[in-house]
Amino acid sequence: MVTAHGAVETPVFMAVGTRATVTGLTPDDLREVRAQVVLGNTYHLMLRPGMETFERVGGIHRFMTWDGPVLTDSGGYQIFSLSADREMSERGAVFRAYTDQRKHMLSPERSIQMQAAIGSDIMMVLDECVDSRADEATVRTAMERTHRWALRSLAARENSAQALFAIAQGGVVRELRKQSAGFLREHPFDGFALGGLAVGDTRSQREDITHFATELLPVERPRYLMGVGTPPDLLLAIAAGVDMFDCVLPTHMGWQGTAFTSTGRVRITRGAHRDADVSLDADCACNTCKNHSRSYLHHLFKSSEPLGPRLLSLHNLHHYNDLMADARGAIEAGAYVAFMRRKLQEIDRHEHGPASDSVDAASV
Ligand SMILES: [Zn+2]
Repeated sequence: MVTAHGAVETPVFMAVGTRATVTGLTPDDLREVRAQVVLGNTYHLMLRPGMETFERVGGIHRFMTWDGPVLTDSGGYQIFSLSADREMSERGAVFRAYTDQRKHMLSPERSIQMQAAIGSDIMMVLDECVDSRADEATVRTAMERTHRWALRSLAARENSAQALFAIAQGGVVRELRKQSAGFLREHPFDGFALGGLAVGDTRSQREDITHFATELLPVERPRYLMGVGTPPDLLLAIAAGVDMFDCVLPTHMGWQGTAFTSTGRVRITRGAHRDADVSLDADCACNTCKNHSRSYLHHLFKSSEPLGPRLLSLHNLHHYNDLMADARGAIEAGAYVAFMRRKLQEIDRHEHGPASDSVDAASV
């Protein structure tokens, strides 16, 4: 995938940098863990620092000193999840901001205007997100409005060089997913996202709909599964044809003391790691694993030192990006399915197998 700030190899995992920062990490850190794309959020950035800042500075790349590709989410999901005090209408959403308690308006046009000021390489249309467990009529109404908003976003974009992705909705209803993909693919979007998943649906529903809905979207355009997920989620979605992912898991889990490793998840705060003079993951080439022991990381967390979360976040992003690089290699070798099965088995054995309890103890 080619963007205004360089080429991106897919499948790609994008680092979540909601507020123009991947918490605790510098742009050099991001390059070090081989992050390809940073994902910012229009809802948060319009509230703080605000559009004027991006206009003054000349966009997010200069503001955060990141010269790689940036994707901005439109804010639809945040209005759905963060604003209890909101009114949705055909025009857009009026919501009360958590920053200043004032009322703000986010419409498809306003979201594009904001994303144009942010200067992201890939903009997302504003969508109306509803809980997957809502009744079919509610899911249908939100989907139809999302389609109308997608066309308004396309018109508002005018002749901007920034790419614009549509978001297919339809909850977990196959017929609606078919209608949404069928409608959106008739219009000149640069890519397509699957929205409305991981909002109340079960894991098997999500896997089923991901497979079903991805195949309905044009194969020659990037297909992006929003907000998902764990390494097994990613592996399965790649098999379904998904090219792009974002998720807060590797960074959030890192800040909470959990590492994703080649031998499953490691909770570094557990007592078993207190005297473990071994690296976090023997199979990982990141700086955390090259330079520091589990014992030291355990100590940092126990002492509430900010370096601990930082080192674990770095490792987790490196781990996710490694997984994507291995997946790309397997796809190029024409051996993805075998690769995926082996990886899923490994993860399953380490996290759920009879030896899972001894994973951590084994390092003592
Ligand atoms: Zn590592």
